[in-house]
Amino acid sequence: MKLKYLGTAAAEGYPAMFCNCENCKKAFARGGKNIRSRSQAIVDDNLLLDFPCDTYLHALHYGINLHDIRHLLITHVHRDHLYPVDLIYFKPGFTHPAEDYMLTVYGSEDVANTIWGVLPESVKKHLTVQTVEPFKPFTVGKYTVTALKAYHGTDNPYIYAISDGQKTMLYAHDTDIFREETWEYMKSAGLHFDLVTMDCTEGAEEDLSYHGHMCLGRNIACKQRLLDENLIDEKTVVVLNHFSHNGKASNYEDFEPIAKENGFETSFDGMEIAF
Ligand SMILES: [Zn+2]
Ligand SMILES: [Zn+2]
Ligand SMILES: [Zn+2]
Repeated sequence: MKLKYLGTAAAEGYPAMFCNCENCKKAFARGGKNIRSRSQAIVDDNLLLDFPCDTYLHALHYGINLHDIRHLLITHVHRDHLYPVDLIYFKPGFTHPAEDYMLTVYGSEDVANTIWGVLPESVKKHLTVQTVEPFKPFTVGKYTVTALKAYHGTDNPYIYAISDGQKTMLYAHDTDIFREETWEYMKSAGLHFDLVTMDCTEGAEEDLSYHGHMCLGRNIACKQRLLDENLIDEKTVVVLNHFSHNGKASNYEDFEPIAKENGFETSFDGMEIAF
C-alpha cells in the first residue's frame, strides 16, 4: 500500500491565516516542509481521506483528477476535514461528470447530516453518502475498512483501519489516545498495523490540559500501548501528523529531529510512504 499526505496541518493551516506568532513567522521564513495545508491524504492514489477546503489546491498541486476518485472516507465534521460546500459542484450544470460517475462518501451519521444540511437533492445523481457504524468492517473498492471511535470534539468522530488484504494501516486523525472500546475492538479483531499515522496537533509538549488531540508525550504513551497490545511491532512505521502552529517546536525543521529521537516519522505535505 501507499499513503500520500496531501495536507498535514491542523484547522488554521501552518502558517495560520492572519497569524503573527513566532512559529508562523519561522515557517514563512523557512518555507519548504515547514509549510502545511489542511489535512488530507490518499491511499494508493485512489482512496481519498477527508475533504478539507484545500482539496482543490491539493488536486491541482499533486495532479489528481478528482473525477478518478470514487471513494472518500471522512473522519469527522470539523471543517478542516469536511468542507461540504465544495461538493455543490455536483449540481447539474456546474460540472459534467460521466453519466455513471458516482462519488461515495463514507462516515458517521454526522457526515450525512452535515452534507445534506447544505447540499440540494440535485447533487445525488453523482454523490451518495453511506453512513457506517463503528466496529463493523465494510468494503470500499479493494479495501476492508473499519471505523473505530475517535476521542475528539464532535458527536461521532471516527478513525479508520484500512486493509488491502496484505497490509493494514491506521489513520488516527483527529483523536486523543484512543477510547477503551476502540482498544478492546482492535485487540478482539486481531488487528495488526504496518503503518500508523497519529494526531500530533500540539507538537513536542509532554502533556496537555485538554482532551481530544495528542502531543509528543501522548504519542509516546499511545505507541507504547499499541506495542504492549501487539497491535504494532518494531517494524511498524509510526508517522506523526496534523500539526498546529500553536504546538511546541512544531515547525518541521524543529520537530523532525525530536520525533526521530523518539522513534517517529514526521509528516510533510507531499510525503509518500510505501509499506
Ligand atoms: Zn483537524
Ligand atoms: Zn501562528
Ligand atoms: Zn477535528
